[in-house]
Amino acid sequence: MIRLFAAGRLAVLVLALVATGCASSDPGAIVAQPASAGRVPSAESTTADGSEPAFSGWWFDDASIGSTPPARSLISVDGAQRDSQSAPTRSRTPHGPAKALVTPLGLVVPVLSEGPAGYEVTAPCGEPATVSWGTPLYGAEIVLDPGHGGEVETGAVGPNGLAEKELNLRVAEGTAAELEHRGHVVVLTRTADYRVPLEVRAAIANQLGAKALVSIHHNAPTPQMSTTPGTEVFIRTGSAESRRLGGLIWQEMVDALSGFDGVSWAAATDAGALRVTNREGQDSYGMVRRPRMPAVLAELGYLSNPSEAELFATPEYVDVASVALADAIERWLDTDEVGGGLRAHARSFTPDGTTGHNRGCLSPPME
Ligand SMILES: [Zn+2]
Repeated sequence: MIRLFAAGRLAVLVLALVATGCASSDPGAIVAQPASAGRVPSAESTTADGSEPAFSGWWFDDASIGSTPPARSLISVDGAQRDSQSAPTRSRTPHGPAKALVTPLGLVVPVLSEGPAGYEVTAPCGEPATVSWGTPLYGAEIVLDPGHGGEVETGAVGPNGLAEKELNLRVAEGTAAELEHRGHVVVLTRTADYRVPLEVRAAIANQLGAKALVSIHHNAPTPQMSTTPGTEVFIRTGSAESRRLGGLIWQEMVDALSGFDGVSWAAATDAGALRVTNREGQDSYGMVRRPRMPAVLAELGYLSNPSEAELFATPEYVDVASVALADAIERWLDTDEVGGGLRAHARSFTPDGTTGHNRGCLSPPME
């Protein structure tokens, strides 16, 4: 129902854009924001009885990024949603040491140990660092990985100026919100516009013992035009659960995107849920290969394609993609369905190694 409603709203929006002759997105909505924008209010760090609450997941409203104080951050304690500015009403005893930390400036980082000076963590660029306080995370059910980030690693950029790093983060935040609303525990590997090398992204998911990791991307360059969406989901060699997750995401995304009228899609001839291997025969993508749990990398569509880029700049797209990803992840958790679009043959691709590393990476302030 949400999907139909959202698609209907998009149709109205498209008509409005045609009527005014203004098809550009609001540049203010896609501007890169400093990592220091988001934060978890200090009131969240202790409960009424002085113990630390075990926050199960969190995210920031777009409106909270860059505003002081943040407009609102929804935080879930024991699966219940509430406004972060109200006092905690419930807590649970954490089990074992903190696995990751939401730092005072809202970054998620793996925890190495806890000491007298605070938390010893792995900073976003991979170096050890100390953070004096924050919100400890003890586990996660699903880790979402918004691809790219920071000045250098923008990812693809649409003809309308929309940067992939920003679009990926919007969809990841939307998907996290949807899954949290349904009672799932979700953590993001990146929470604002900063660089995170692949090894740190994977370490966050590994430390938290997530059941699955979904890396969210939008594709380029544009292949041939197509009557159907060109969604591609890269799955791990030898992992039946990665394959199943990929098939479900492909199916839900293509079904959801097909509900938008008037979009000129682009697609590669082998688009689907597929393996991509390098010349050594390994899975080509680090975010498919490195996590210890079932993982996929989803290229939801072609940001380089002008028609798709216009769609991707709308809030309706973010809503529809977020619900589709949440639906797919829930089907993966709750059923043994395999989805669709599964390709028997692997694509051959060897990355040039120019992205995802930590050379020249400067970690942003964490507190
Ligand atoms: Zn990407």
